[in-house]
Amino acid sequence: MHKPYLKWSALLKSQFGGRVQKISLDIGAGCPHRDGLEKGGCIFCDFRGGGSGAWIEKRDLDVQIEQGVQVAKKRYKAERAILYFQSYTSTNLPLPVLEQRIYESLRLAAEKIKVVGISLGTRPDMVPADFLDLLVDLDSQGLQVWLELGVQTTDPDGLMWLNRGHGVDEVEECLYRCSGFPINICAHLIAGLPNEQSTQLRDSCLWLADRGVKALKFHPLHVLKGTVLEKMYLSGDYVPLTMGQYAQRVSLALKAIPPDMIIQRLSADAAKPWLVAPEWIIRKNEVIREIENLLQ
Ligand code: SF4
Repeated sequence: MHKPYLKWSALLKSQFGGRVQKISLDIGAGCPHRDGLEKGGCIFCDFRGGGSGAWIEKRDLDVQIEQGVQVAKKRYKAERAILYFQSYTSTNLPLPVLEQRIYESLRLAAEKIKVVGISLGTRPDMVPADFLDLLVDLDSQGLQVWLELGVQTTDPDGLMWLNRGHGVDEVEECLYRCSGFPINICAHLIAGLPNEQSTQLRDSCLWLADRGVKALKFHPLHVLKGTVLEKMYLSGDYVPLTMGQYAQRVSLALKAIPPDMIIQRLSADAAKPWLVAPEWIIRKNEVIREIENLLQ
């Protein structure tokens, strides 16, 4: 079925002539916003820092890669992969250490699967100039290079409420610093903050599109065990969106964005044991169907 938005997996398939699977890795980078006691981290972030928890579980890189390649090849029949340094803030390591872990991962993965790209998840205030040089180096080796920026919203009050520890200015400065480099930026956005306008997700997308962001990942704000947001939810201070409300906001955004903006994700993946609310998140296919129905 033709999708009424530019779906990343389909684009990759046409670019590389076959399915490309992302392999998520945890290189133990931690996060400067979580690790300081007084900062506390983002209110929705659990101890795994948005990733698999592999580093805490002491799963070495070679094990993570082996498992990721198995899934890519057996479940998804993919022969190509993008290595995704997903957990926490991947740039929160001294540059030589980060460089070593990236190149080691590339070497280990290349023995098992064709690696066509690399993607690093980070915060807008953790993208220094020397790190950009590393990305340029990776690009020069023929890899598709992505930087996944946790933006979440362009509403300053929303950023404060989420305790992001940065404002809109840091996002703007980061995007400005990255412009001119051969780096693709994918922004992560959240819908469903309290007091948020139903048009906020759309407005955030348009603001980012104006500043050269190439791709988007959407997530409903959801409650994971052990987070500050869980306490707010249990005390009634936070009420999640319904599936219908979320689908409305995403479809409004999708109708407004430029047609060449890539959609990497329409809704969150949440593991059942860690999810508190809303329960509908685990029915991801239903969420996607609801969004696409609104678009048709
Ligand atoms: S920046 Fe990312 S890893 Fe750090 S606390 Fe926020 S969500 Fe968690």
